[in-house]
Amino acid sequence: MPLLIKNGRIITASEDMQADIRIDGEVITAIGRNLPEDGCEVIDANGLLVMPGGIDPHVHLDMPFMGTSSSDSYETGTRAALHGGTTMVIDFILQKQGNSLKDALTEWQGRANNNCVGDYSFHMAVTDYNDETKKEIAHFVDNEGITSFKTFMAYKGALMIDDRQMIGLMEEVKRCGGLVTVHATNGDMIDYLVARHRSEGKRAPIYHYLSQPEVTEAEASERFAAMSRYTGCPGYIVHLTCEGALNAVREAAKCNQHVFVETCIQYLLLDASLYEQDFDGAKWVMSPPLREKKDQETLWAGINQGLVNVVATDHCPFKWEQKLMGKDDFSKIPNGHPAIEHRYELLFSEGVNGGRITANKFVEVACTNPAKIFGMFPRKGTIGIGSDADIVLFDPNEEHTISVNDHHMNVDYSAYEGRKLKGRVKTVVLRGQVAIDKNECRLQKGYGQFIKRSKVTDHI
Ligand SMILES: [Zn+2]
Repeated sequence: MPLLIKNGRIITASEDMQADIRIDGEVITAIGRNLPEDGCEVIDANGLLVMPGGIDPHVHLDMPFMGTSSSDSYETGTRAALHGGTTMVIDFILQKQGNSLKDALTEWQGRANNNCVGDYSFHMAVTDYNDETKKEIAHFVDNEGITSFKTFMAYKGALMIDDRQMIGLMEEVKRCGGLVTVHATNGDMIDYLVARHRSEGKRAPIYHYLSQPEVTEAEASERFAAMSRYTGCPGYIVHLTCEGALNAVREAAKCNQHVFVETCIQYLLLDASLYEQDFDGAKWVMSPPLREKKDQETLWAGINQGLVNVVATDHCPFKWEQKLMGKDDFSKIPNGHPAIEHRYELLFSEGVNGGRITANKFVEVACTNPAKIFGMFPRKGTIGIGSDADIVLFDPNEEHTISVNDHHMNVDYSAYEGRKLKGRVKTVVLRGQVAIDKNECRLQKGYGQFIKRSKVTDHI
């Protein structure tokens, strides 16, 4: 039966209008005033905002890491995302050094395929770039619909590639029409500081923070931007946290470069004072670490200046007993925190209701830009005729409080426990099906589809 969403206030990255939306099958077929109800299932959105489903382009589900695995499966993670208004995620495949990209893809498909409730895609993380890997890049872009390649300038000895590999990869990815994304921190400097702190017996969570000072990120971001300029390859810096790193991008922008920036919700809202407690600070051990208040101001300003393009989460949850692996040594605390369910509401509450960004800007950084940058627009990321019907009905005034007691992520604490929000997801539609209604998920695992993405150069 066709679906009709009536009387809502539709907000996209560029529009703000009162209109109805008709959905036939998986896509939006009409937008207008007073659309006829004939034969439709009607959802009344009176008093609600009607916005595109969120896209979180940075999540790690069921990922083997630091001797354990992130605690959300593809099922629990994508379901929690839907509860929070995020209809699609992009997860990361990690190549094992010495193995092929194809092997890694097969392994990740084995965990993800037929297990997702919401839609998903993958970035391909290249951890070992050589003559054999080079031959695989074109196949991923042309046949697999995976057009973004993640690199690590840190995690030495595990995930990190050196600058020689980075330049080679960038040349090949540019030739094939893709995008190189980067974890931009200086791995050697961090390695040195971790070793120094450990040798001095400084093993509490706060030394995780002190081992990754702002300069380690600013330096690597500048180096990455320089390599992107030299090769002409479009670049994307994931989880940028601080003023120094954003200033490196400011310089790149002056040269008309394509260096996109993602920050994550935690870097906008939380700060490093959380590490000044005992082992509880382990909840926020992530890389890069939380920064200072001045960095939050820089990032909010960067969103409004168009320098920060995307707000993601880097969702990588670990249960408390997993965090305890680092009880006596901060370098053994699994890195990451749970946020996939809260990004959309937190960003609206603190950003729009907090007076920092407009509702249009909210949609731009939470939905539209991820779709554009990663080759899915206008199928995803907006409300338009012919687009997938991925839609959130949102009450901008309802107040509620985040708690582990009622979140849907598979983790036994909340990194935002007790935080009060204004603005709440009410109903979520994914490709024409009601996914969330009255806090119940109506879709089963396997509904979520792998979304093939197009060449990045088609969109930017
Ligand atoms: Zn990550």
